Order: sequence, then structure tokens, then C-alpha cells
Amino acid sequence: MMLPPDSRGMGRVHAFTVDLEEYFQVAALEPRIPRSTWEDEAEEGGEVPWPSRVEEPCDLLLGMLADHGARATFFILGWVARRHPELIRRIAREGHEIASHGWSHRRVSEMTPDAFRQETMRTKAVLESLSGAAVTGYRAASFSIGPREGWALSILAETGHRYSSSIAPIQHDHYGWPEASRHPWRPVADGPLEIPPAVVELGGRRWPVGGGGFFRFWPYPLFRGAWRRLERREDHPSVFYCHPWELDPDQPLPEGLPWKNRWRHTLNLGRARSRMERLLGDFRWGRMDETFAPWIAGEREAPRG
Ligand SMILES: [Zn+2]
Repeated sequence: MMLPPDSRGMGRVHAFTVDLEEYFQVAALEPRIPRSTWEDEAEEGGEVPWPSRVEEPCDLLLGMLADHGARATFFILGWVARRHPELIRRIAREGHEIASHGWSHRRVSEMTPDAFRQETMRTKAVLESLSGAAVTGYRAASFSIGPREGWALSILAETGHRYSSSIAPIQHDHYGWPEASRHPWRPVADGPLEIPPAVVELGGRRWPVGGGGFFRFWPYPLFRGAWRRLERREDHPSVFYCHPWELDPDQPLPEGLPWKNRWRHTLNLGRARSRMERLLGDFRWGRMDETFAPWIAGEREAPRG
């Protein structure tokens, strides 16, 4: 059923974002699926070590977005775009924003400025030739821009990116910059606008409610309550993120994965689809470049902190 966005009579339009990558490219699986194995190409007639599974969950996601009259931003890995050009064309055709998730899913903190510039430009060129539109948004793999990676933001601006969504303003064992702003801000003067995933401040603590494992971990009504709170208190839209592999509960997993990584990756995967349906119905959703347009253009400023 297609609902015009206004018929729900609810608050502002938030940004729905998808990090388009394969299940085997996720940081939690890295101990058992090293990059060297997923980068292997199949020999003539041979089998690839980790077969692609990105098409089916993307199809599902695109259908859900269309059913709810929602548009989204897809942060796409160049590595995936090169192997699935038709999927990228379809996403663009259906009205979604094509944005960059880098090429290799390497953490920014592990790249040299030269390597970062090269893969950022390569990804942008491939995505622009597939979509026919300028790519102006970027999200770092594993939210890997921290206080020491300001140089990367300058390179993003240099290469034509107008906003980034790459800093998690929280404490997390793998990433995060707890002192960073929860609101749209400019970490470096010559850099793009940084628009972080949603974080709620409650009881003197910051709670990441932007998506991923957090979306699957908390009971849905709690998650929705956190977003209602954001709607009441913030004067700007908030950012939700998800991955196609979260809608693929039957994905194969490598043997011998540390339990914590396995738990994180597979937690409530079977429920993600129905939760996402509810989330799409409970709020209004749009693309990053549109929902944050006045902030990206510098016409509006959010509070610091
Ligand atoms: Zn990613």
C-alpha cells in the first residue's frame, strides 16, 4: 500500500540510509574472512570463496521503501558497484540517493591519505557513471573517522563530497568519538558537513539509536520511544542506518568465529525485516541530501554538543 508521506500526519522527515556491502565484508567477520579471500576472483568455471548475496535483500529493501513511499540514501561500496552495476542503476532509477561507502571497506584510520584519496575518487567515478548523478555523500567503513582523521574530511571536500556520515559520537569498543557532536557539524573548517547516526542523551549517557546491532538488540517499542524523543527535542532530522545482510538470516557464516562477533552479527536477524517494516510505517523517511539540504548548504546550523 502506497501512502503519501503527509497522510501519516507525523513529525519531520528523517534520513533512512543503507550501507550497501556484502555480508562477508563486515568488520565482525574479519577474523575469519580476511580481505584477501573476498577479493579473490573466481577462476574460469571455479567457485568464489564467498558467493554474493547482496541482490536479494536489496530487492526486499527496495520493495519495502516503495511500499511506504519512502526514499533513502544508499552508501555503496565501490567494490560492490563494480560487480552489480544493474542494481546500482535500479536504486538510482527508483529515486534514491547514490552515495559512497568507499571502495574496499578499509577503516579510514588504517589508510594513508594517498590511498584514501585514490579509493574515494575511484568509488565516486564508478558510482557517478552508473547513476548519472553527482555523488556528494560519503560514509566511512565502520564509522572510522575519529579525532585523528580530520585529514580525510579535507580530502572528502576536495573530491566533491558535501556531507559525510562517518563519525559515531559514542563510546564503542571498535569505533566512536565520544566527544564529537550529536548534531550536524563541521569538524574541520574546510571539510564537509558531518551528519552522525542518531544518538539519544539520557541519564547523562549517550545511547546510539541509529541502527545496526542497536536496532536489533533493543525491543522495538524502546527504539521507537527513543526516536519519538529525538523528534520532540531536536531541531533537525535524525539518521537511521541498516545493511542488506541484516535482511538475510540464512547467510552462511564462517567456522570458528569468536562468540562475541557471531552474536553481534546474527542477533535477531530473523526479526529485522518486521522491525524495519514498523519503523518505515511509524516515521517519515527521505534521502540525506534532501532532508539535510539547509544544513549542507550552510543555511541552518545545529547546536554544538
Ligand atoms: Zn560498511
